[in-house]
Amino acid sequence: MTKILIVGGGIGGMTAAACLLRAGFDVAVFEQAGELGEVGAGIQLSANPMRVLRHLGLVDSLAQRGVRPHAYQFKMFDTAEILQEIPLGDGYEARHGVPYLSVHRADLLEALVGAVAALKIDAVTLNATATRYAEDADGVTLHFADGGEARGDILIGADGIKSMVRSTILGETPVHYTGDQSWRILVPAGRLQPGQRPDTVNICVGPGKHGVVYPIRRDGLVNMVGCVEYETWDDESWTARRPWAEMKADFAGWHGDIQAIIDHADKDQCFRWAMNNRPPVDHWSTARATLLGDAAHPSLPYMAQGGAMAIEDGAVIARALQQENDVGAALDLYQRNRLARTARIVNESSANREMFHLPSEAALREAFARRDMNAERTAWLFSYDPLTVELR
Ligand SMILES: Cc1cc2nc3c(=O)[nH]c(=O)nc-3n(C[C@H](O)[C@H](O)[C@H](O)COP(=O)(O)OP(=O)(O)OC[C@H]3O[C@@H](n4cnc5c(N)ncnc54)[C@H](O)[C@@H]3O)c2cc1C
Repeated sequence: MTKILIVGGGIGGMTAAACLLRAGFDVAVFEQAGELGEVGAGIQLSANPMRVLRHLGLVDSLAQRGVRPHAYQFKMFDTAEILQEIPLGDGYEARHGVPYLSVHRADLLEALVGAVAALKIDAVTLNATATRYAEDADGVTLHFADGGEARGDILIGADGIKSMVRSTILGETPVHYTGDQSWRILVPAGRLQPGQRPDTVNICVGPGKHGVVYPIRRDGLVNMVGCVEYETWDDESWTARRPWAEMKADFAGWHGDIQAIIDHADKDQCFRWAMNNRPPVDHWSTARATLLGDAAHPSLPYMAQGGAMAIEDGAVIARALQQENDVGAALDLYQRNRLARTARIVNESSANREMFHLPSEAALREAFARRDMNAERTAWLFSYDPLTVELR
């Protein structure tokens, strides 16, 4: 049986593991951390990744804990005027066959971990920091910091934006600082006035920054991510705490709903990190090694599609390996079918930075009046089915 080694037990690695195990491959996941976990923040799951999560039997459990927002609303930063709306309720589900969910990242990872464990109980090895690998005609040997090694037929680097596997395949290149830093806070909905508890995904756009606010748990938890232009950056850790007063100052003059969420955050639980990405590449596979998720195509989160792309990757790589007997041909089929779509998402996410941060209300209103986000995203983004799209 083909044995696939996966470096990284994040959303991408665990989705790939579950899809590959379901497809009949043997899988071993190696995660550097001592436990599988995610930071306290939300993630939106549009129809494209949801189809994969349905394939893995996870929709009901995610829907029970998460939220089905009824719309995705772009709003003016100071007045909360709705500039554009993407309906996400029953019509969205009827059209796409799956709901749009907003969930806690930890709930998503827990669901994926459960799906993997149900298929292979000992698939994941923790405290396993992969340091290098060597590829030969018969397979791949992966080496770990503790001196251990593992042998398999294929290696998948699902090891995030600073991927060791990527550096080996594509060479060392520095990450690109996008010019934005991102705040994240979580606020129990019960602290907010009933009228200020969001039931939609809100993208509040304004000069030089934008704020994204949405509920992530049915029992009441609100997620806010605030993306602010900063010329310099010092910290890129998702767990770096910054003074609450700095976040408050960054959003001074913004609408009362935003103020209420910031005001009700725990003052010592405001995190801010520098957002990096990399320009799209024209290949990311060799004869026996490949990349997925942020290791392959790290993106600004301005279409909420980084995790979605990682989930899509997992489904497509499993299908490519089923479709092609030859490993090299399968990895080539996988990357050929993922390069253009992921590059488009990375590039459009970067372009959204310019649009969301335009310098005046007039410019923002005009930019949104020219676009139909619902039609655009329905046409190519949400409609993509990683399980049935023809692999060419
Ligand atoms: C503010 C923000 C909001 C976002 N919102 C959304 C959203 O709404 N929807 C969406 O789809 N996406 C969203 N994203 C993007 C999404 O979070 C990422 O694209 C996704 O988490 C990437 O998953 P991954 O598994 O590829 O990488 P990671 O989550 O980075 O996982 C990599 C794993 O590899 C492990 N690892 C790394 N190196 C090694 C090594 N050498 N050996 C062993 N293990 C290793 C790490 O410990 C980690 O567990 C958002 C991102 C941000 C920053």
